[in-house]
Amino acid sequence: MSLSGKTAVITGSNSGIGLGIAWELAKAGADVVLNSFTDRDEDHAIAADIAEKTGVTARYIQADMSKGEECRALIEKAGRCDILMNNAGIQHVAPIEDFPTSKWDAIIAINMSSAFHTTAAALPVMRKSGWGRVINIASAHGLTASPYKSAYITAKHGVVGLTKTVGLETAKEDITCNAICPGYVLTPIIESQIPDQMKAHGMSREQVIGDVMLVRQPSKDFVTVEQVAGTAVFLCSDAAAQITGTTISVDGGWTAL
Ligand code: NAD
Repeated sequence: MSLSGKTAVITGSNSGIGLGIAWELAKAGADVVLNSFTDRDEDHAIAADIAEKTGVTARYIQADMSKGEECRALIEKAGRCDILMNNAGIQHVAPIEDFPTSKWDAIIAINMSSAFHTTAAALPVMRKSGWGRVINIASAHGLTASPYKSAYITAKHGVVGLTKTVGLETAKEDITCNAICPGYVLTPIIESQIPDQMKAHGMSREQVIGDVMLVRQPSKDFVTVEQVAGTAVFLCSDAAAQITGTTISVDGGWTAL
């Protein structure tokens, strides 16, 4: 399948899953726009590396996904947006009574509201070209809950709701909107929450990985970035044209439990 001629905007893509998706979409021929809130030489170097190795046009555009106007400006600056991957996300782990309001607000803004703003800005652009794919990186935590992650779980359930609504609003067009719900993928966001989980549960690193994280992942293995990215590329294909307004779990059986 070739995505040549399409432009993909991937929020939060200077590391982890977003970066993996950028690589796979570029390998499939799409021009890619990478994003995060920083504006470092290394951010632009990632885009240059993708361009050099795949031959597509790759740009890095700084925009803070916690701010609605910057979400919308990202789409405007991209100029074209055939594929929108709402991927930016952060995490904070604490019991609800200790959960800082500032963390709640940031998680709701970055993990959920950013998808509202980018989608609202991207749909008119997609309608102009007559084709579009909106893919939201939700989570198994968009379908189930765990303790100590109130804001994240609220935001990811919200993203699943937004996905269904956008799927219905675009159902008669050649535009789809779906959410990928990964289980645990060993990326920086997961690495960084291991110390908090150790504190919250009073456990060692090995216990957190085995008894907390992968305890609900029946495969007992982390999902890989490439497996999530491959699902995203599939959702851009013609075979997926009638898949809309739904979730696809890539979670080693977690949500079957
Ligand atoms: P990550 O920390 O490697 O990536 C998060 C990305 O979001 C980074 O590029 C970061 O720079 C960016 N980001 C953070 N704040 C931002 C802001 N204000 N504006 C713009 N960009 C910002 O983690 P990841 O695991 O690759 O996470 C990517 C997505 O996948 C997140 O939405 C996460 O919730 C989701 N997810 C991850 C897992 C997992 O196990 N890793 C599982 C399910 C869902």
